[in-house]
Amino acid sequence: MLARVTGHQLRLFNSLGRRIENFAPSADVVGLYSCGPTVYSYQHLGNMRPYVFADTLRRALRWKGIPARQVVNITDVGHAVADSDTGEDKLEVAAAKERRSVEEIAEFYTQDWLQALAALNVQPADVYPRASAYVDQMIEFAKVLEDKGCTYQLPSGLYFDTSKSPGYGTLAMMDIAGQREGTRVEIVEGRKHKSDFALWRAEEPGARRVMRWNSPWGWGAPGWHLECSVMSMTLLGDHFDIHTGGIDHRELHHVNEIAQSEAYLEDGRPWVPYWLHNEFILLDAQKIAKSAGHTLRLADLVEMGYHPMAYRLFLLGGHYRSQLDFTTAAMDAAQVTLRRLAIRVAPLRPLPQVETLAAARSLLGVPVDATGAAVGRDASARAAADDNTAIAYVDAIDAAIAGDLATPKLLATLQDALRDPNVTPDGLKVVVAAADALLGLRLSELKPAEVDQRRTADDLAPEEREEIERLIAERTQARMEKNWPRADEIRAELDALGVQVTDTPTGPTWQLR
Ligand code: AMP
Ligand code: ZN
Repeated sequence: MLARVTGHQLRLFNSLGRRIENFAPSADVVGLYSCGPTVYSYQHLGNMRPYVFADTLRRALRWKGIPARQVVNITDVGHAVADSDTGEDKLEVAAAKERRSVEEIAEFYTQDWLQALAALNVQPADVYPRASAYVDQMIEFAKVLEDKGCTYQLPSGLYFDTSKSPGYGTLAMMDIAGQREGTRVEIVEGRKHKSDFALWRAEEPGARRVMRWNSPWGWGAPGWHLECSVMSMTLLGDHFDIHTGGIDHRELHHVNEIAQSEAYLEDGRPWVPYWLHNEFILLDAQKIAKSAGHTLRLADLVEMGYHPMAYRLFLLGGHYRSQLDFTTAAMDAAQVTLRRLAIRVAPLRPLPQVETLAAARSLLGVPVDATGAAVGRDASARAAADDNTAIAYVDAIDAAIAGDLATPKLLATLQDALRDPNVTPDGLKVVVAAADALLGLRLSELKPAEVDQRRTADDLAPEEREEIERLIAERTQARMEKNWPRADEIRAELDALGVQVTDTPTGPTWQLR
């Protein structure tokens, strides 16, 4: 008799309600919006966690055969210093400090961030919208809120009246009356409630912003919260399934996104049903905040001799909802573990192509029905009886990821499988490929030598050096001509050669990864 064996139900911790829930997609393609970086400086190590976490979520959806479309925004305007409603824009402050244009600043730090994502093997999002390209839609959105009577105008801009939002603050689980008066410290002349926030930040009299747009509320710039509502709805539709971000966003940014979006839609439905947040990475038991001057970033780790995948492994070694202490001892341990993994996996290569539970099961001879659920093994299953062990490991991998993305459990399962004498080599290949489809540690190709030995430029043949220098010169030229597609293409070529380019005020420098 064929026993129907379905995979484990995907369960995720929803910040909305603070409980683990079954994930049920509401559409054929899951819409996933992840709050992205404000590109006014380098992204530090902590800042990279939200994207590795969202990448894990995407890999989990793929594993379950659930198609997803991911949007990650790039905030190149609208984020005022100190996350406040008034005052200067972070980008403008950085541009003045570095004596570069805001466009140059945004482009430079965006490219640096994209490079770090690639080094961390984060799969590219479907769209990376720039906030500055959506200002017209933001103005239209704010006009609708104004027509609905949810706003009021002050000399400093157009404000959202949070008393018009009945469920205001539910995500943050705050006492509504208390928080409406209590949480915000910034004093804004005329603001009705401290929780009210700017949809439009008007130019102060006599001050002219660098990034400015005309609007019914005067020249100025959009509010930070408005951006994410507008870009997500424009690119994913009015309602979509999942919104992610760092835990700090749960208290303010996402609270305000929900308030304005639900006021805009007014359809009685929650705007987005699932809200997922990653906890912080701590450095010296403090938030690694850019403002605190700790800007330790991935490139620094590489400089110190760590492999980017070791940082990914360090991140995955903790559950995304746990705070994680960053220490060099923890990085050393991650690097050793990564190297051991690479050594142990090397003889198993080439690994099979496995991205889904269905594929893993089918390779192990478990017949799969049209929905991807296994329906038991029949006599024609080509797997050896020994592969029952491998099937059990794939099941454990599925259980780990389905249980709120438990990457530490997944890693432990992988280690157990690699040590288990009962699993056949063919079965083990499938288990390793399955685990890495979710972990993304590049186990199918990572060379042990790569992990602890860095090739330096001195090891290169003269013609190799010449080729690299030629490509870099060509890229500099393309950038001067603002030919970004060509510049990106050359960067990809350099990437493939293992060359990491860093743009400095005195021109590009490079090193081997
Ligand atoms: P920002 O570029 O400052 O807007 O931040 C980018 C993302 O990183 C946001 O989702 C933040 O919540 C998140 N974030 C900032 N600091 C940390 C940290 N130390 N650990 C984890 N996530 C962080
Ligand atoms: Zn956002």
